[in-house]
Amino acid sequence: MSHFDSLPWPYPIKYGEQTNYDADVLVLGGGIAGVWAAITAARTGARVAIMEKGDTRRSGAGGTGCDHWQWAADNPGSGVTPNELSNALVANHGGWRNGMSTYIQCASGYETLLELEAMGAKVRDVDDEFAGAPFRDEKTKLLYAYDYDNRFVIRVWGANFKPLLRMECLRRGVQIVDRVNATTLLTENGRHGARIAGAAGVNTRTGAYVVVRAKAVVLATNRPQRVFTFSSEHRGVTAFRGASNVGNGHAMAWRIGAEFTMMEKTIRSPFASPYSYPPYGSGNAINTWYPCTIVDANGKEAPWVDVNGKVLTTVEERCHPAEGQKFFIMGGGNASQPHPGLKQYGGPRLIPDLEDRMMRGEFTPPFYADMTSMPDYERRAIWGLMVGQEGRTRIPVLQTYSEGGFDPARDMLQTYDFIRGHGMREPVAPQERTFGEIGVSGGMMVDWDMMSNIPGLFGAGDLLFGAQDHSHAATTGRYVGARAALHAQGKDFAGISEEQIVRDKERVYAPLTAKPDSLDWKELNAGVARVMQNYCGEVKNAELLSLGEMWLADIAANEVPRLAADNPHKLMRALDVADILTCAQMIVAASQRRKASSSTLHFSRLDYPDLDPPDWQKFLVIRKGETDIETSYRPHGFWGDLEANYAPRAAENRSALRHKVSSAA
Ligand SMILES: Cc1cc2nc3c(=O)[nH]c(=O)nc-3n(C[C@H](O)[C@H](O)[C@H](O)COP(=O)(O)OP(=O)(O)OC[C@H]3O[C@@H](n4cnc5c(N)ncnc54)[C@H](O)[C@@H]3O)c2cc1C
Repeated sequence: MSHFDSLPWPYPIKYGEQTNYDADVLVLGGGIAGVWAAITAARTGARVAIMEKGDTRRSGAGGTGCDHWQWAADNPGSGVTPNELSNALVANHGGWRNGMSTYIQCASGYETLLELEAMGAKVRDVDDEFAGAPFRDEKTKLLYAYDYDNRFVIRVWGANFKPLLRMECLRRGVQIVDRVNATTLLTENGRHGARIAGAAGVNTRTGAYVVVRAKAVVLATNRPQRVFTFSSEHRGVTAFRGASNVGNGHAMAWRIGAEFTMMEKTIRSPFASPYSYPPYGSGNAINTWYPCTIVDANGKEAPWVDVNGKVLTTVEERCHPAEGQKFFIMGGGNASQPHPGLKQYGGPRLIPDLEDRMMRGEFTPPFYADMTSMPDYERRAIWGLMVGQEGRTRIPVLQTYSEGGFDPARDMLQTYDFIRGHGMREPVAPQERTFGEIGVSGGMMVDWDMMSNIPGLFGAGDLLFGAQDHSHAATTGRYVGARAALHAQGKDFAGISEEQIVRDKERVYAPLTAKPDSLDWKELNAGVARVMQNYCGEVKNAELLSLGEMWLADIAANEVPRLAADNPHKLMRALDVADILTCAQMIVAASQRRKASSSTLHFSRLDYPDLDPPDWQKFLVIRKGETDIETSYRPHGFWGDLEANYAPRAAENRSALRHKVSSAA
């Protein structure tokens, strides 16, 4: 029992009390994708509501900031086209990336950023802090990251993007329903797989029940975490993604028969490790810290190499493509973790055999990030602009370290490379895997409208299959807001089944009923994670996966009914873990059905050891049918020509907008 358990619950309790709303477009999840979807839908004149589990001011993975605006190939400085860049990104992920949403990101990243600028965001160096820097375009004052020749990643001041977007929602008349955990998607007359009718949720403070009738629903609830590892004591409930993102959207959509793909992709990854470092809080040379100089304990510099293995002697050389390479996607990191597409699109990074050299005595640990020897503009870009705007770093890292006396022109910051792992990444056991915590992962299958197989159910942001990034969430949210509003036009509300509501209330309030042998949500989360480690870890075969299916079904039947909660917050946690269990079942089901190993999907089947056989180069799609799980496949590149599919929809979206975004002035 914690100290808080002895305090009285601070909000009025309203279990079961029901509030009803109507909306043309209902957005579930007021994160980056959600607020953008709401703004665009409202700009068409639609009546829009957001149901958000936390507080739309700062909730979600992008609520605390963004320093890189990725893949804006439509910006005036870009040396690559949206088509080139999207195809490169898809190829770099072995074909398992969402070509449609990646194209939306590459083709409208800058267009979207301009709208954000009109809302009051700082997206260019208007104060001339970096005048003359090689990553600055003097005319537009845009600052670029990574590839200074091809200029498609923009450095931005993103720490306040989220509050600005929320203000714009309010200006556009969006009904924001904060602190309500969406639990259930409602379908026409409660029929499985039928047209969407709305959604229901539970207030996380009062326990009240909320029903929103809607003609279109945009799911923007990010993706599952805590499926393989869980430690509330070591790292809280999250290391990298937003704490409220646990895959509720995946579970809700699965229950009504939506299709999902890439669910078998799980990674052995430190981002779920209880021992991870605070993101970007230790010295490293990746993402936000790119292209930082790394030195050993004696001040000896670790060499950088380009994709051809050529040693790069200056900091500036780390920011240009190699000979024979048109552009590179992203540099940095440690080459002992090679990127699948390294040769074609790989960027400069630390020399691959640094660890071996250290073991042979050529370098002495520990290593340090040494900004003191870097050009002043690069140092200020990392420590100031980037660390100041990146999510979760402004206060914990920049402010705390600065107040503690850290001066990047004088001091170095230790990196844990080779003593505990790589940069902020630590090695973990094979079974300590992540699903949605990091990277491109599995999610809802959609078409070019970003609509699922459930009529009227759309998706945006990290929830979509094969997708990631802040700018991806913004651009897909912005696009889908218009698609959903157009879909809703001229439609009536679908009928809501009272029986579905009654059954749902029984389900969501079940943990409130006292039980003699009750189970805490944390125990259940740890139990699900242990089953996943044992039976869906790095080593998989049909037998192990069958045991996993059996144990998860057993937990669903016998342990979930024992879940207990004595306040609305714990009720939310209990429902979350029940959804994590559902997501675990989806992952095991997909893993059982992929009968081949795959390097890109980090998927290894002992009983199907052939790596990436040609007939398995395809998306495996699963869906909960009325009786069984149904399986289907889509070929890589099933989305067809990118520009030909995108352009007419983007034009239709633009012409549907009746209102401009508000000018901050
Ligand atoms: C520390 C950190 C740094 C990052 N830096 C960058 C960067 O610099 N550049 C970049 O491109 N990307 C970055 N990312 C990734 C980026 O933030 C995400 O890709 C992006 O926020 C995804 O947007 P989203 O809308 O899909 O999800 P989110 O922004 O996470 O929003 C999901 C929302 O859904 C809500 N929600 C969840 N479940 C429910 C439910 N059941 N009912 C109601 N609401 C619900 C959540 O509370 C949340 O508000 C970073 C992420 C982190 C964590």
